[in-house]
Amino acid sequence: MNLAGIGMTSQRTRDRLIQRLVEQGVGDLRVLDVMRKTPRHLFVDEALSHRAYEDTALPIGRNQTLSQPYIVARMTEALLQAGTVNKVLEVGTGSGYQTAVLAQLAGRVYTLERIRSLQDRARQRLRQLKLYNVMMRHADGFSGWPEEGEYDGILVTAAPAEIPQGLLRQLAVGGRMIIPVGPDGHQLLVCVTRKEAGYNEQVLEPVRFVPLLSGIIE
Ligand code: SAH
Repeated sequence: MNLAGIGMTSQRTRDRLIQRLVEQGVGDLRVLDVMRKTPRHLFVDEALSHRAYEDTALPIGRNQTLSQPYIVARMTEALLQAGTVNKVLEVGTGSGYQTAVLAQLAGRVYTLERIRSLQDRARQRLRQLKLYNVMMRHADGFSGWPEEGEYDGILVTAAPAEIPQGLLRQLAVGGRMIIPVGPDGHQLLVCVTRKEAGYNEQVLEPVRFVPLLSGIIE
């Protein structure tokens, strides 16, 4: 397990990616700093690790993908815009990369994944990185994780056709949810803020995500 990386996974390669994110308009220094430090090559198969610091989505098996770094940065930045977030709910753990980024910026991260084999691998990686403030559950994220109460932030990394009502209810007042919404090929990244009375919706940009699917599988 090479945390530091060599060659195409070296610090210099990672710095180039961060530079690219800055050029694309990512401005939150907390997010840039955490992404500079987080070894993305550990979240993909070894055969793909030489591409881990390209600004591109990568396959993680089971027909799923690790999001493009720019999207991870944009979503995290949007989530943190209100200030600091203590409790975050993530739907769609996948490789655990976005989870690792969140774990370094929030007090506690609760993350849901419907495919057990992906979740198991993500758990190992987060342990290797000593990120112990992550709680995982093998569950269908459509209904969230209501037992843990309300969240300051909710980040969804797969796209439903419409925003799930159950997730809206688990957002604390003042909290925000970042979620891709819409059918394949026509998804928009949306930021929902919970107000004292009701919700405020803002469209961020067009995106491409795998669909949010019902049910759990091994
Ligand atoms: N954030 C991930 C992206 C993974 S792709 C990463 O950084 O790697 C989206 C993930 O959402 C997939 O792993 C998929 O299995 C999961 N997913 C899809 N629908 C889901 C649902 N209803 N509940 C929980 N996870 C779901």
